[in-house]
Amino acid sequence: NLRILLRARPEGLVGPEHFEVSEGPLPSPRPGEALLRNRFLSLDPYMRGRMSAAKSYSAPVEIGAVMEGQCVSQVVEDPTGRFQAGDWVLGGFGWQRFSAVAVSGLRKLDPQTGPVTTALGVLGMPGTTAWVGTTELAAPRPGETFVVSAASGAVGSVAGQIAMRMGARVVGIAGGAEKCAFVRDELGFPDCVDHRAADFPERLRAACSSGIDAYFENVGGAVQKAVFPLLNDFGRVAFCGMVAEYNDDAPAPGPNLMQVVRKRLSLRGFIVSDHPRAFADWRSTGGEWVREGSLKYREDVVRGLEGAPEAFMGLLAGKNFGKLVIEVT
Ligand code: NDP
Repeated sequence: NLRILLRARPEGLVGPEHFEVSEGPLPSPRPGEALLRNRFLSLDPYMRGRMSAAKSYSAPVEIGAVMEGQCVSQVVEDPTGRFQAGDWVLGGFGWQRFSAVAVSGLRKLDPQTGPVTTALGVLGMPGTTAWVGTTELAAPRPGETFVVSAASGAVGSVAGQIAMRMGARVVGIAGGAEKCAFVRDELGFPDCVDHRAADFPERLRAACSSGIDAYFENVGGAVQKAVFPLLNDFGRVAFCGMVAEYNDDAPAPGPNLMQVVRKRLSLRGFIVSDHPRAFADWRSTGGEWVREGSLKYREDVVRGLEGAPEAFMGLLAGKNFGKLVIEVT
């Protein structure tokens, strides 16, 4: 069983030295578990937090343990009889070829209704995150300006499209001309600003001439610094993540908080797993939009489990273009 283990905890940048590619025994299912062949592994920014021992909302991966991650898998054998061999399921575990997982945590997928990888991206955890953060926290009203960072990515691309449906004027922020063109031309955002441009703050100000009413924060760092002065009175920020800071040893200095008082801002963080009912809601709503073709998504599929460490390092540096998925060969 080819597996990728956490070899050491990174301080600062993640490197290949923090991972170990290893061959292990085929896992044998305990009572209540099925043996799965993982086919697609989702790589997500939260995994950087699991590599660190720092206190967080979830426990870290132990040194020497298989890296955590969610997979779309095929059932090899299910002694409980709930699934047939060959069934596609969501819920396989880890950066590894095979996993033994409790059947109670598996959800059957129908490959006839669409690509199974959508269960890891647009219709899975990232899509649900976009749904919760946009509708419940950022809550844009018609005509308001809604800004989302990492706009071409798994969460941001969906958040912006939901905000457009809510009647907001949506401005994306993304890294580089190619991603910005995709956000405008394929996703249909009215505007997208390149945070790599030297005059990014001025460009963002020009794109948000009436200020920013709602901001969906995915990135932090210099992007956040440019957004905050543009927030309007009673503006809302949904703090979803700050991927630009995940490799930092110490937290970056934040914005001056007097503007929270002066502008009467609402700042709220959230973790999607605290909203368990939202997953099925979004699968039903978003699934309909995906099937009719009105919700666009892009996947960045890298072939081969051995490529996962490098692909993950790229995710923390903006090298992925769309939802990052490993095809486990
Ligand atoms: P993406 O598919 O958007 O990929 C990450 C993107 O972040 C990169 O492509 C890049 O986009 C941007 N990025 C990475 N490094 C930097 C940097 N140093 N400076 C600026 N931008 C950078 O990832 P996801 O959609 O999966 O995740 C987006 C955010 O949502 C993350 O912060 C993640 O932690 C968070 N999240 C939070 C959840 C929650 O429950 N709160 C659940 C799921 C995700 P670009 O090149 O355009 O800058």
